Amino acid sequence: MQLDPIAEIGNKRAMTEPAPRPKALRSPRGGRTTEIDWSDGHKGVYPHMILRGYCPCAGCQGHEGTIAFIEPSDAQLQLDDIEKVGNYALALRWFDGHDTGIYSYRYLRALCHCEACVPEGTASRAPRQRL
Ligand SMILES: [Zn+2]
Ligand SMILES: [Zn+2]
Repeated sequence: MQLDPIAEIGNKRAMTEPAPRPKALRSPRGGRTTEIDWSDGHKGVYPHMILRGYCPCAGCQGHEGTIAFIEPSDAQLQLDDIEKVGNYALALRWFDGHDTGIYSYRYLRALCHCEACVPEGTASRAPRQRL
């Protein structure tokens, strides 16, 4: 189910059918990929290159309103910590100290790079939809 955020605000169903949320999170120390099990059964795969490259914070993305891929350096690909923000987002802290990126669950779903979301052979750094 895909809802655009504006439609969702006026959509009462959205209140009884909340967006999928992370149930379990695997991000091994020193790893380059984080996996998220979602409440709807989806097994999300998130290469850190994607997570960091699409960091949604204003420092990375500016205030243009469009999200761009910012090529991270190798040293920027290690995750230090992941924290829940309310019931709608995760805050990612990277080893280089960058911790201003708040990734809403909806945003994370759009960034998913599992085989179902990014069929083999078409793997791309670009999100599959405009954000
Ligand atoms: Zn950032
Ligand atoms: Zn996926």
